[in-house]
Amino acid sequence: MSERFCYRCGISESEGGPLIDGLCQVCYRKENPVLLIDGEINTELCQNCGSYKKRGVWVDPSTYELEELIFEVADNALLEELGDSLDERVENFEVVSVEELEEINDLPVGAAVVAFQPVDWHIEHFPAIIIYEVRVKARLHELQHELHDETRHVTVYVRQTVCPRCQKFLGGYFEAILQVRAEGRPLAEDERKAIGKLVEEKVDEIMRRDRMGFIQDTIEKEEGLDFYMGSTSSARKLAQAIKERFGGTISEAYELVGVDRQTSKEVHRASVSIRIPKFRKGDIVEDRRGNVYTVEGVDGKGMTLTNLVTRETERRDWKTVKREGIDSVESEKREAMVTSITPTEVQLMDMETYETYELERPGIELREGEIYHMVEVKGRRYFLRKKE
Ligand SMILES: [Zn+2]
Ligand SMILES: [Zn+2]
Repeated sequence: MSERFCYRCGISESEGGPLIDGLCQVCYRKENPVLLIDGEINTELCQNCGSYKKRGVWVDPSTYELEELIFEVADNALLEELGDSLDERVENFEVVSVEELEEINDLPVGAAVVAFQPVDWHIEHFPAIIIYEVRVKARLHELQHELHDETRHVTVYVRQTVCPRCQKFLGGYFEAILQVRAEGRPLAEDERKAIGKLVEEKVDEIMRRDRMGFIQDTIEKEEGLDFYMGSTSSARKLAQAIKERFGGTISEAYELVGVDRQTSKEVHRASVSIRIPKFRKGDIVEDRRGNVYTVEGVDGKGMTLTNLVTRETERRDWKTVKREGIDSVESEKREAMVTSITPTEVQLMDMETYETYELERPGIELREGEIYHMVEVKGRRYFLRKKE
């Protein structure tokens, strides 16, 4: 049998073989490079929010520290480019560290390992420039004695742009208005603060999944708060969160704001309203049967009430509040001093008018000479609590 020779370099098969497709081992690897990546890659990040495109979709970065962020964006662009620029005979590849790659000496046919590291960079201003050394090892043919082992330098340019979301945000865009109101009264100062804080926390959470969930603007109104929201679903989620904390009812309305020039469809804007209950801690309320209570607490599920006669503290869910006709009642708060106590009665003196009067002794501990907060409802006086 006559000796075969590499058609490219002329080396004999016994010296440089076995031949693959007529090529010696070295020429086969040279003629069939694996790493077909461009020497230059261009990518961009949003100068407003730091997001960048991952497989065509804008995503938030995992860090906002600028230097780390630039590397995150550049790494991602390099990796995506790598995935698209290995020889088509590579069926799967794995990214490993430079050290791990060094140790790998064999791979199954169709497999590759890739490692990359930045070797030089200029990131003080944009475009930021990062030069990577990329190394790949691979096997394309079963007769290969040695793996492909190729190294290339790739320059990644990271430029600044404004992502579509931020373009909308910076352009004043909003999709829905969230209106926060209280039933039958303006929203109180402490409620405004608590709701503002709750909304802020919730928006952070929403934005992790809904990039359009931003607050475009917050308007303080006499009756309550208006939040201009980037997405309707975000407005709905916030309304739900407020309802869970404060109780209340949610309603939605749509307003025609124009016609889309491209689709000729009508464009509607949602306003989502959450109306929190009118009751507040410290309110005096009365039920249908004339029982008078002081409100101890209000939340998403209902109210805690103390019956001013029995002194019992009771829970009422919102359904029951409605069913029992519990509602605000006109009341006058006063202060009075206990002047004498008998087994069944208490004598008091009003602190303003010095008028004295008797009440049935209530189920709370009283002491002569002490001053109490009283409340008068429909001509009847009740003890609220001791004056601190
Ligand atoms: Zn050769
Ligand atoms: Zn952005």
